[in-house]
Parts: sequence; structure tokens; C-alpha cells
Amino acid sequence: MAKDKNKTMCALNRAEELKSKIEDYTKIKDTIPNGLSNTVEAKIEEKKQKILSLLKGTEADWNDWQWHIRNRIQDIDLLSQIVKLDDSEITSIKKVQEKFRWGISPYYASLMDDNKLNPVRLQSIPTILELNQHGSIDPMGEEFTNPAGAITRRYPDRLIINVTNLCSSFCRHCQRRRNIGTLDTHKTKEVLQESIDYIRNNPEIRDVLITGGDALMLSDDTLDWLLGEIYNIPTVDYIRLGTRTLVNLPQRITENLLNILKKYSPIYINTHFNHPLEITKETKEACDKLSNIGIPLGNQAVLLNGINNDKFVMRLLNQQLLKCRVRPYYIFHAKSVVGTTHFNTSIDDGIEIMEYLRGYTSGMAIPTYIVNAPNGDGKTPILPQYIISRGKNYVKIRTWEGKIYDYPNNFTQDLGNLLKENITN
Ligand SMILES: *Cc1c(COP(=O)(O)O)cnc(C)c1O
Ligand code: SF4
Repeated sequence: MAKDKNKTMCALNRAEELKSKIEDYTKIKDTIPNGLSNTVEAKIEEKKQKILSLLKGTEADWNDWQWHIRNRIQDIDLLSQIVKLDDSEITSIKKVQEKFRWGISPYYASLMDDNKLNPVRLQSIPTILELNQHGSIDPMGEEFTNPAGAITRRYPDRLIINVTNLCSSFCRHCQRRRNIGTLDTHKTKEVLQESIDYIRNNPEIRDVLITGGDALMLSDDTLDWLLGEIYNIPTVDYIRLGTRTLVNLPQRITENLLNILKKYSPIYINTHFNHPLEITKETKEACDKLSNIGIPLGNQAVLLNGINNDKFVMRLLNQQLLKCRVRPYYIFHAKSVVGTTHFNTSIDDGIEIMEYLRGYTSGMAIPTYIVNAPNGDGKTPILPQYIISRGKNYVKIRTWEGKIYDYPNNFTQDLGNLLKENITN
């Protein structure tokens, strides 16, 4: 009896200790802008009505993804009626737009406010920092990994087809900025056909990733054709689509699109949420529609200075994603690309974020932190150290809380032999 009481006391003390481990987070969590909170939701609705009246659009227009593309905001006067811009910001946009284009879907613009550090603003509105000359144009050497058509091949069993350079909004941190160019161009049918033929002729390719730009900027008809062609290659196991429309144009997930995607199962979709503000009622509905037809969703965030290089912002982002059935997949370390280097962080920032995910929150909420090796030599996972040393008989490990243990490392007997010995004995 007394013993049981002791056990309960132990458990209660440990529970208190565990609770105290996330007190810092629970205290500030509600101060992080969060698109699913009631106050933010109301602000977004108000901004939406303002944008609709400026563009003379209707509720039906708002639900039409092509209306958002046609009405992409790329005019400074219009932008300054949506959010407050001071003179220096206006001058900056004018200078930057001579070199890099910008454009914001009305939906994504509805998440902005007058705060200059609003994470959607930082990802959408050019700043003078983009004219900084540091960085390279193609750090991944993508131009050297294109064996045919619109393919990038950097791995043994999978490859990418870049189907378009169009996106519904242009991210200021875009790592493929050199492709975004000034003109919207889908790849021609000939180039796509050449890519399909390459996959057919190389049967070790079992995983095909369709991306861009944004794969869902293709028309329904082109997507239907392309997916059908790849689906009919027997050596391809499944198709992946890369799209940011779940973040900046959730209206793209139409009934017609869902009916097309249903035909080519298994399809996986990876998207690109960077901040909890971006997860709204509308994005959640779009995610739900895709999950409901059996498409697993993943997220590839980019670690961005001033936007999400913060352990608590990232923890909340990954937790919010799970509410929408989106599994955190990768956090990419931002490469040094001309025009985006002000968003670069140290690798230490990324390691710190990973350190404060493991243990502190569900394993489900923990993506892999990836550094892209130079020259396109591949995604390289980066982790805090959990193995302190490795010996013949023991591995020294440390837990998420920093407790150190020697863990046995000497079970190397062959199972077949073990079974034989036990029978003969
Ligand atoms: C990122 C990437 C892939 C996919 O990599 P996964 O780790 O399997 O998600 C495939 N091909 C290229 C060229 C890539 O850059
Ligand atoms: S959606 Fe992707 S490809 Fe398009 S601008 Fe953003 S980061 Fe670049």
C-alpha cells in the first residue's frame, strides 16, 4: 500500500517537472500570430472584404482560383491601399521591381497587415535588401543535372520534372528565383513528352516529383494528361506534387481537380507553410479535401531569418500543421541565393530548433532538418548530437533532457545460429 503511494508521488512529481519544461512555450504561444485564432480570423475576413471592394470582386470571384491569378497584386498603388506603405518602402519596391518581379494573390494578401514584420508581408513585398549582391544564382548547380526535357535528376531512384515557372504568389525567399524570370511560361508539351519518355526509358526511376514553380498552376487538362502518362509507366510506384497553393491559393483545390487526382492514386502532395499565420480556415479546408480523397500531405518549410528561425514559432507551426493532417517533412536550410541572402540563418539556428522539438512535442511534429550540399550533391540531414560516443560494447547517448546513458552495443549474434544452438541444447 505504502509502496503504491510512493509510486504515485513519483509520477506526480515527474508530471510537474514535465509541465515546467514547456511553461516558457505555453506562456508565449498565444502571442504568435496564428491564422486559426478567432482574432486573426476576423482580421483576415475584414482585409478580404477590403480587397474585394478594391478589385470590385464578388464572393464567387474569391472562390475562383483563376480570378486570383488574373488579379494578382503587382501594382504599388493598389498594394498601398491594402496595407500601409511608407515612402522608403515604396521607393524600395520601385527599385527592386526593375530587377525581380513581385506578385501577390488577393487571398495571400488578405493575411497581411500594417506591421512591417508580418511574416506574410516579409515573404511577399520586396525590400531593398533584395538588391544585396551576395550569394550565387544557382547554388544547386541545377543546370548541370538536367539529362532530358524538364527533368532534374540528382538521386538514383527518383527525379523532378519542373513543369512551369508560374506561381500564384512570388516568394521573396524563392530559392529558384532564376527560373521565375519575368514571363509566365509553362513547359511545352514537347518538353514534357521528352521528360515522360526519359522516365519510361529509365525503369530504376520509381518516384516522380512534379514541381515548378508550382505544379498546380498547370491547367486541369494538362495535369490530367501528364499525371495519366506517368501513371501508365509501370515502373513508377507513385507521383508527388509540389505546390504552394495550399498556402497562398487554397481556392485551387476544386472539385474538378479532386476528381482528376483521384484517378492516379497513390499521389502525395508536399506544400510549403513557413509560419502559423499561414494556416487559416481556408487552407485547412483545402487540406481536408485532399486528405479526404486519400492524398497524404507533407510540409517543406524553409528556415527564414525573421520569419521562423525561432524554436517556438517552428513548434507551433508543426503542431498547427498536424491539425490539418499535414505531416511536417522537411525544414530546409536556406541556400545563399542572390536577392534572398537577408533571409539566411546560421545552421546553429536550425539545430536549436530541432533540439527544442524532440521530446518537447510529438514525434509526429518533427520534420528532418536538411542542408543542401553544394553542387547539387544532395539533401543532407542535420541533427543535434544524441550519440556522444560509440564504443565496441557501449554507445554513450544523451536524452532530450540531457541525461547521459551508456547503452549496450554488443548483441551481434546471428539469429539462425542462436536458434540452432537452443534446439541442440
Ligand atoms: C529534393 C529532391 C528530390 C526529392 O527528395 P526526397 O528526399 O526524396 O524528398 C528528388 N530529386 C531532386 C532533384 C531533388 O532536389
Ligand atoms: S511557390 Fe516555390 S517556386 Fe514559387 S516563388 Fe514560392 S518558393 Fe519559388
